Amino acid sequence: MPAPDSIEQDVTDPAPAVPSFADLGLAAPVLKALKDVGYETPSAIQAATIPTLLAGRDVVGRAQTGTGKTAAFALPILSRLDLAQSAPQALVLAPTRELALQVCEAFESYAAHLKGVSILPVYGGQGYGQQLSALRRGVHIVVGTPGRIMDHLEKGTLDLSELKYLVLDEADEMLKMGFAEDVATILADTPDTKQVALFSATMPSQIRRISQQYLHDPEEITVATTTTTSATITQRYLVVSYPQKIDALTRILEVENFEGVIVFVRTKNETETLAEKLRARGYTAAAISGDVAQAQREKTVNQLRSGKLDILVATDVAARGLDVERISHVVNYDLPIDTESYVHRIGRTGRAGRSGEAISFVTPRERRMLTSIERATHQPLTQMQLPTAEDVNATRLGRFDDGITAALEQTDRIARFRDIIAHYVEHHDVPEADVAAALAVVAQGDTPLLLSPEDDRKERFERFDVDRPDRGSTSERRSRSSSSGPRTTYRLDVGRRQRVEPRQIIGALANEGGLTRDDFGGIDIRQDFSLIELPVDLSGDVLDKLSGTRISGQLIKLRRDGGPLRRAGGTGDRPRRPQRDR
Ligand code: AMP
Repeated sequence: MPAPDSIEQDVTDPAPAVPSFADLGLAAPVLKALKDVGYETPSAIQAATIPTLLAGRDVVGRAQTGTGKTAAFALPILSRLDLAQSAPQALVLAPTRELALQVCEAFESYAAHLKGVSILPVYGGQGYGQQLSALRRGVHIVVGTPGRIMDHLEKGTLDLSELKYLVLDEADEMLKMGFAEDVATILADTPDTKQVALFSATMPSQIRRISQQYLHDPEEITVATTTTTSATITQRYLVVSYPQKIDALTRILEVENFEGVIVFVRTKNETETLAEKLRARGYTAAAISGDVAQAQREKTVNQLRSGKLDILVATDVAARGLDVERISHVVNYDLPIDTESYVHRIGRTGRAGRSGEAISFVTPRERRMLTSIERATHQPLTQMQLPTAEDVNATRLGRFDDGITAALEQTDRIARFRDIIAHYVEHHDVPEADVAAALAVVAQGDTPLLLSPEDDRKERFERFDVDRPDRGSTSERRSRSSSSGPRTTYRLDVGRRQRVEPRQIIGALANEGGLTRDDFGGIDIRQDFSLIELPVDLSGDVLDKLSGTRISGQLIKLRRDGGPLRRAGGTGDRPRRPQRDR
C-alpha cells in the first residue's frame, strides 16, 4: 500500500493502463493538433477503435455521444488522407445538421496542422449554391445528413466514386428519423472497397442487418462498463449548458459546505483556465494536469491536504489515485468520457470512511452519458437544482452571523474596540446599531453582501425535459421557443399506404425546411395523405423546398390545406416533437 495521500495510483484503486495517443499510430500532424486541443489520453472507444481503423478494418462501435467517438473515427481518417485527391474520399453521415456541424468542427480542429484540407458540411435547409461551388472546387471530407447527400447524388453534384472512408454516426438515430433507405442506398452506391465505421448507441436488428449486408467482417467494439461506486458518496447532477457552468460552480461552492474540492475537466488547457477563473472569484484554486511536473503536482497536492488550497482543478490523469482525506466534494465540471473514469473520479472523495459528495454537470446533449453512468454504477444520481439567489443569500447571511459570533469570542480585542466605539457613539450621536452597520459596510467593501432576485433572472438556468434530450445550444433553444407562432394545417401526399410514420415526416420537414421543434403541431396520418400543423407564415422558399421533398421515395407536395386536423377518436397522432433541428 503506498503512503496515504499519495498521488500515485494505489492498489485498492486500480486504474487500467491507458495507451497514449502516440501509441496508436496516428500521423504526426494529427498528434500535434491533439496536443493543441489538450486531450491527455485516448478515451476507451478511441483506444479500441483507432488502431483497428488504421489497420483498414471495418468497425461497428457501440458508443454514444460523450465518449469521444467523433475523434475515434476522425483521427484515423485524417491520418490517412490523400491531400492530392480532389474527389471526396471520406463521407460522414449524421442524423441532424447540428451533429453534422459538430463533427465538421471536430474535424477542423484535429486537421489544424494538415495544410489545405477541405471539409464540407452538407445538410438540408442550407442553400445549394455554397455546397455546389465547394464541391466543384474539390473537397476531401463531406459531413452531411443522408437526405441532402442523396439529393446531391441524384443531381450528380456529389461524386463518391473514389470514396475510401464512410462513417455512419449515430446510426440508430438516423434510422429513427426515417433515413434507413437513404443510408442503404448510399452504402450500396459507393465503392465496395471503402472502409466503413458504424457508430450507434443501441444495436437494433435493423442496424445489425445493415452491418451484415454492407460491412466487411467488421470488428465489433463495445466498451464494457460495469463498476461500482461507494455507498458513502452522495451523487447528484445538475443540468446546465456549457456557458453556464462557471456560474453554476460558483453558486454551488457558495452553498455547499466543503473542505477540499476536486473539479474535473476534460482537457489540460481547461484546468488552468478554470483555476484562474476560480481564483478571480476569491477561491484558493490550482490546476494539475499531466503536463505539470511531478514535483509541482506533489507540492500542489500537499497544499490541498494542509488546507492552504481548497480547490484543485484536474484532469483524469493528473488526479488518478489521488488520496486526500480532506476532499469533501468532487465536481465533474465536464462529464468524463467513460463510466470507469467516473468511478475513479468520484472515488477521490469519501476517503477513509468519510462521506463524500459528487456533483456532475450534465449538458442537455450528455443525458445519455448520464444514463450509462447510472446503469454502470447501479446507482441513480439525484437531480439537483441550481441554488437560487435566496439559497445563496441564506448561506451568506449564515456566514455573516458566524463571523460576528467568532469575532465576539475574541474577548480581549472586543474589549479594546468597545471603548473606541463608545467614544464614537458619544461624539457623533449615532445609535450603536448604525455604527455596527457602518462597520459591516467597511468590512464588506464594494461587493454586495446579497444577491438580488435579478441575479436569478439574469442567470436563468433553463430546465430541460428529462425525456427530451436536446442537442441545440442555448441560443438555438431560445430562438426556437420564441419562434412558435400561430400554425395552420398543411397537407402532404404520403400516408398510411406508404407506411409513413410521424417521425419520418418530422425528420424530412425539419431537415429540408430547417424547421425546428417548436414549429410542429399535430400530425394526422390518413390513408393516402397526411395533415400536419405548421407555422402559418412558412415562406414561399421553404414551401417550395418542402413540396419537392421526398419521403420513402415519394414527392410529398406539401401545401396549405387549412382544414381541421382530426384529433380525438381519430387516427390522428400527436407526434413526438423532434428532438432537435435537422
Ligand atoms: P464526442 O463523444 O465525440 O461527442 O466527444 C465528446 C467530447 O469529448 C467532445 O467535447 C470532445 O472534444 C471531447 N473529447 C474527445 N476525446 C477526448 C479525449 N481523449 N480527452 C478529452 N476530451 C475528449
